[in-house]
Amino acid sequence: MPEHIADPARTHALLKKHGFIFKKSLGQNFLTNPKILQNIVAAAELSQADDVIEVGPGIGSLTQFLAEAAHQVLALEVDGRLLPVLAETLADYRNVQVVLEDVLKADLPALVAEHLDGRHQLKVVANLPYYITTPILMHLMQSRLDFASLTVMMQKEVADRLTAQPNSKDYGSLSIAVQQTMAVAVAFEVKRTNFVPAPNVDSAIVTLTRRPTPLVTVQDQAAFDQLVRGAFAARRKTLWNNLQNLYGKTAKPQLQQALDAAAIAPSQRAEQLSIADFGRLSDALVAAGV
Ligand code: SAM
Repeated sequence: MPEHIADPARTHALLKKHGFIFKKSLGQNFLTNPKILQNIVAAAELSQADDVIEVGPGIGSLTQFLAEAAHQVLALEVDGRLLPVLAETLADYRNVQVVLEDVLKADLPALVAEHLDGRHQLKVVANLPYYITTPILMHLMQSRLDFASLTVMMQKEVADRLTAQPNSKDYGSLSIAVQQTMAVAVAFEVKRTNFVPAPNVDSAIVTLTRRPTPLVTVQDQAAFDQLVRGAFAARRKTLWNNLQNLYGKTAKPQLQQALDAAAIAPSQRAEQLSIADFGRLSDALVAAGV
């Protein structure tokens, strides 16, 4: 590989040369440790059989490693000031295409059809801008993009919520929304000192792999999502109180009927319910006409 972009001295020199000033509001914390970049590529298990979508290439530190390991890289960057930097740092990589796009507004399947050949397995690999980690994950999962896995850096607290199991303080609607369709694991943790500028939090690399079939399949996915969000609305309250708030007092008889049918005690708290419990309850609520 040519000179690493992620080398701290090179990063500082590049930023100085281009007069680049970090925008905190865009979550700009650039990785400066090549060893970590190598480990991200290893966690993503990249090969020439893969095309990669990268969100937020920054100055290209991770992009360079992705380009070395995969067939093609499509990188979406929202900050136009980084385009001249990327043109310089990635000039030697013919298999990288950088597009100026806000990932949350992007039509990802259309971009993929335009820029990639459709004959390679699709993987997402990114050091995410932390201020929009959850919206990006949701946008990726809800897009019609047929990706095999996501390997993404995020703040450790969010990684804890994504991987949390019932009966823990981190378990909540995000854990369930993601784990229903994805197998989630923390690959490794990364200290804040590996970034320029250093963020206020430590980070983790998380791998999300699509499950062959969802953990639970429900009759009405929108009703399931609404139930889960409502059940966790006030964590210290019982399921019964949260669900009454969600569906209204007039729904009490049907609510009781559904809880009985799903064999779930109304005195429980949402964090005690597994994803399968929520699935059973959701179908029972639909059957009871709630
Ligand atoms: N990949 C680089 C690295 O690892 O050093 C930079 C990662 S930095 C944490 C996040 C990057 O995402 C920044 O380059 C930022 O400009 C970009 N970004 C922020 N919001 C974005 C959005 N909505 N769409 C696309 N890129 C975004």
